[in-house]
This record gives sequence, C-alpha cells and structure tokens, in this order.
Amino acid sequence: MIYLDYASTTPVNQEVLKAYTYVLEKYYANTDSLHDAGLKVAELMEQSREQTASCLKVKANELMFTSGASEANNTAIKGSAFALQHRGKHLITSCVEHSSVDQTMKQLQELFGFEVTYLPVNSSGVVEAETLRQALRKDTILVSIMALNNEVGSINDIAELAKVTHESSRAVFHSDCTQILGKQPLTFLPDIELASFSAHKIYGLKGSGLLYHKQNVRLVPLICGGQQEAGLRGGTSNAPCNIAWAKTMRIAFEKMDEYSRHVSELNQRLRLGLAEIDGVEINSPQDATPYILNFSVKGMTSEVMLNALNHYGICVSSRSTCSSKTKAPSKVLMAMGISEERATHSLRISLSHLSKKSEVDELLNVLKEIFNDYRIK
Ligand code: PMP
Repeated sequence: MIYLDYASTTPVNQEVLKAYTYVLEKYYANTDSLHDAGLKVAELMEQSREQTASCLKVKANELMFTSGASEANNTAIKGSAFALQHRGKHLITSCVEHSSVDQTMKQLQELFGFEVTYLPVNSSGVVEAETLRQALRKDTILVSIMALNNEVGSINDIAELAKVTHESSRAVFHSDCTQILGKQPLTFLPDIELASFSAHKIYGLKGSGLLYHKQNVRLVPLICGGQQEAGLRGGTSNAPCNIAWAKTMRIAFEKMDEYSRHVSELNQRLRLGLAEIDGVEINSPQDATPYILNFSVKGMTSEVMLNALNHYGICVSSRSTCSSKTKAPSKVLMAMGISEERATHSLRISLSHLSKKSEVDELLNVLKEIFNDYRIK
C-alpha cells in the first residue's frame, strides 16, 4: 500500500502509542478522585497540559482537552457566540472552512438566530484582509477563519486577519489550526483568542483534540455536568489520551524544519511529474503548504481516479474526508473560481515526512498508466 492521504489522518507514532497504552493500563483512576491514585493521574494530566502549552508558547490554563478538532471548533464557535450574544449576533467565517465550522455556523443561524457572513476567497484560496475589514460590523462578535486549508493547502495570514478584526471591532478571533499544526510555526497564536487542534493529524491519537482559549475569553460550556476542564467540559477526563498529548506535541515540533524540507522536495518532484502529464491542472496555489497538492485531470472524475488508484493500492482523497460522501463539486475549488467541471475532477495528495521519493514516482507512473488506459477505452 502507498498511503498519500496524511491530511485525512496519520499513523500513530510508536512512542505516543507506548505512552498511551502504559498510562491506560497503569493509571486508570479517575482524575477527579481524591485518593492518591486519582491525584497521581491528575498530576500526570496537568504535566501534559503544561508541556503541551509550552510547545505552543501559551499558558497551561489556556488549553482545554477535547475529543478532536470538531469538538474544539464547536466549543469555540458556539461557546463564544452564546457567551457574547448580549453584544451582537453577527458572526463572520469564510466559505472554505471545514464542515465542523461551516455546519456549526449554519446551526447558529438556523436554530439560534445568529447572522453569518461567509467571506469569499481569492483565486489562491485565501481570505483577503480588506474583504474582512469591509464585513466587520459593530455587532460582530466572532470571526472564524482557518489557518491552512485542508483541500488545497492555501495558508491564510492569520496575524493580519486578527489585526484587522481587532482594529475594526470588538469581535474575538478563532482559527481552525488543525492542518497547520506541526507544519510550520504558529507565530500568530498570541494574536488570536481561540484555536482548534487535533492529535490524529500529527501522529497522535484519534478522538483527541485541543482548544486554545486565551485567558479572559468567555465561553459557555457545551457539555455541562462537571468540574473537569475548569468547568468548561463535563465528563470523566480521558486521561490517557490527554497525557499522550505532551509526547505528540513534542514530536511534532522537534523536527518540523527537517520534515518540511523533505516534504518540499517531494512536492516539487510531484509538481514536475504532473506537469508532464497531459490534461493535468494544479489547483493548489504555488505558495501552498508543501504537504498538500490538489490537481484535476481532464476527462476523469475524482471518483473514477480514486477507484483506479485504490485498485493499485494507492490511497488518496478527492477532498475533505469529512465531506467525502457527497457528490457535489468541491466548494473550496469552486470558491477559488475553478470551474465545476474541473472541481469534479480533482484529487488531493497529502504528504508526510514518512513519504518516500519512490512512492511519489510510483504514483506518477500509475497515474500515467491509468490515464493512458482510460483514454484508449
Ligand atoms: N478542521 C480541519 C481543517 C480538518 O482537516 C479536520 C479533520 N478532517 C477537522 C477540523 C476535524 O478534526 P477531528 O477529526 O479531530 O474532529
């Protein structure tokens, strides 16, 4: 098997797995129990929170453990919208967000009477600061714009967008940082109030996420019921998962530059190889993350290509995995001004430090074979 779908999920790092299974077996007490066994697990979990926070250069009490980025996005958006609705009910997001942001916004609009503005993106898939400035209003309470797009890899200037937001409104700024974590430094984090992360995109555990919430940002909890996570998320803590975050985060930051150089070389190789194939058009902008490359092939739909590659044991995606079952053309590509025809013929390759040159070459060879076969038929 050749796995080139790392933006969907990554294999767990063996060190993380070892730490997780060890804690799961040995430290099973409840973090809220008052006996020594419980206190020990609570201590380990708080150590993990400290270490995770220090990697992100934030304070430990600004991090909340969640079940993933979907929950973190829901909590950031609904939690702050409910907490700030006395100031206004206007929310701003972009039209290329992950479904966990998009659907949360729709729910707030349809069920809770909020008004949502969906900002367009330019042909590179990026929200322009001026577009945001013009959409901000006196009653805007929240802006949510992703850092790195999961389908095409375009990167928003979050520091600039947050600056515009704070200059022109009292809104808080949230960013879905799921895809940027571990790929480049998060220098913008001190400039924003809320950020979501997921462990399984960076060789951590599935069902494990983080919400960064700057001190003094008010949030209404979505899960009431207990004192856990400073009263923001009820329910017995998933201590083994939360304790594994420290190792997951450390590993993600440790070799970030080295990994990024390796992936940039692979991306370049892939781009050059694709340029030699007739009918291939690259959809990712030139300055996108090297980890994601989206392209379309004339005459072959995404579904046909996916199935054909799968037949050769090559795993890729056609779009965001959380919307993989819809037949509609990619809204991200359409928002970038790409035609419907081209948007229904797209593939997303996502690379990792684990990817090899030989895998990229094999993908290119198989693609050529598939196109030749298909065109002859
Ligand atoms: N946001 C983005 C940009 C994503 O790519 C994903 C994962 N597909 C999520 C949020 C959801 O993450 P999780 O699977 O941890 O809920």
